[in-house]
Amino acid sequence: MKSALVIGTGVTGLATAATLKKAGVHVRVLEKAPRPGGAIQSVQRDGFLVERGPHSLMVNSLNTAMLLGELGLSDKLLLPNDAAKNRYLLKGGEMVPVPMGPGKFLKSPLLSCSGKFRLLREPFIKRPCNLAEESLAAFVERRLGREVLDQMAEPFVSGIYAGDPERLSARHAFPALDKLEREHGSLIKGAMKAGKSKPAGSFKPVMASFQGGMHTLIEALAAQLGQDLECNCVIKSITHGDRWTVTWERDGETREYVADELILAAPAFSLRKLPLPQSVLDSIYDLHEIPYPPVTSFSLGYRREQIAHALDGFGVLVPSVENRRVLGVLFPSAFFPHRAPEDHVLLTAFLGGMRQPDVAQLPEAEQLALLKGELADIVGAFGEPVFSERSHWERAIPQYQVGHGDFMAMCKKAEATHPGLHLCGNYRGGIAVGQCLSNGVALGREIAAQQQP
Ligand SMILES: Cc1cc2nc3c(=O)[nH]c(=O)nc-3n(C[C@H](O)[C@H](O)[C@H](O)COP(=O)(O)OP(=O)(O)OC[C@H]3O[C@@H](n4cnc5c(N)ncnc54)[C@H](O)[C@@H]3O)c2cc1C
Repeated sequence: MKSALVIGTGVTGLATAATLKKAGVHVRVLEKAPRPGGAIQSVQRDGFLVERGPHSLMVNSLNTAMLLGELGLSDKLLLPNDAAKNRYLLKGGEMVPVPMGPGKFLKSPLLSCSGKFRLLREPFIKRPCNLAEESLAAFVERRLGREVLDQMAEPFVSGIYAGDPERLSARHAFPALDKLEREHGSLIKGAMKAGKSKPAGSFKPVMASFQGGMHTLIEALAAQLGQDLECNCVIKSITHGDRWTVTWERDGETREYVADELILAAPAFSLRKLPLPQSVLDSIYDLHEIPYPPVTSFSLGYRREQIAHALDGFGVLVPSVENRRVLGVLFPSAFFPHRAPEDHVLLTAFLGGMRQPDVAQLPEAEQLALLKGELADIVGAFGEPVFSERSHWERAIPQYQVGHGDFMAMCKKAEATHPGLHLCGNYRGGIAVGQCLSNGVALGREIAAQQQP
């Protein structure tokens, strides 16, 4: 029977390993941290349930839904309440609902009349031939106009990637938009056609979490691996002959595993710190240069009466033209139950990202002070929060910038020249938890299929 060793237990590594094990492959999974999950960390304290990383995942295919069922998670799955459909954007210091339909859009104060007219011209704008790879900002401005970029696209990009649309690649960071333009010549026409051509009963993506928080997913995947998953590991050597030999230290003991397949599921920036064979390091020589900006999130609990706003939504995103120091604020207790004790609310605010990396690096007391001011202005929070949990991510989310395709080609070449080597994680094929999960499952299946005699 063939064997595989996975380094890194983010959702991608765990999904790959669990899929391989299910297919009958011997697996060993090594994590340097004391617990698995990477960015997915849920904390329960004082009656609050806080997500340090992702708050939800998009269940985007029947396959993912079936996988959650196989993991025994169907009963624990939590769908957001109706409030989650309301999303806000800050405009002129006020929270303005994001319009959810053409009629509402025309009435919305988010865009001026000229901004709306410019947007309505989109179906008539031709895609230039021989277009070089564009930034998301150039793409949105060309198709939808500057106002849509400043008031809507930029804050959404900040909410998803903590990113800068001037640097993100339209093709790599938002492939669905790029595809709509290529296939239909227009985003509006393409979206309308896609809506009409969906067969009745086709799978509708849903946002979800779990009763115990997102870490429930990690626990379920880790449970499939049992003793094959080891935390607190320091990788000491990796050599490649006919097979991959990996040694590591754990609890003062040195261990060794020989595997046919080596799956590197750690972040791109961490790979060059691994004791990989020189030829592998040479083949991924600047992969670590994929930028990951710092992000700090604060989950703050308040008594309900301390917040003036109804908090009847998913949260509010803040465009950079508002000149504020917060990227956005989620209202977790408004869209999932049991996130805060009765008569209390939980807010999670994000600082830093590509837009203001220095703000993520400020001392905690300074961050808290500035946040209290921001929350007072934005949602009318007054007085001291009754609960606070800070999560600092020194390198949060990989940025799929213009030129990201070169990194992807580099990964493919490294794999092609090193039989049995696989590179995976959120810098490849999507940053969202749902994408990482399905990419991990797909990789596991692909490797298992190759191993059939
Ligand atoms: C603050 C924040 C908020 C987010 N919000 C959302 C959201 O709401 N929705 C959403 O879909 N996505 C969200 N994301 C993105 C999503 O959470 C991540 O993209 C995804 O979880 C990353 O998974 P991954 O498999 O790439 O591994 P990671 O989570 O990056 O884990 C990699 C693992 O590798 C381990 N590792 C590194 N080096 C070594 C080594 N030498 N030896 C052994 N192990 C090693 C690390 O310790 C880590 O456990 C968010 C991310 C962050 C940071």
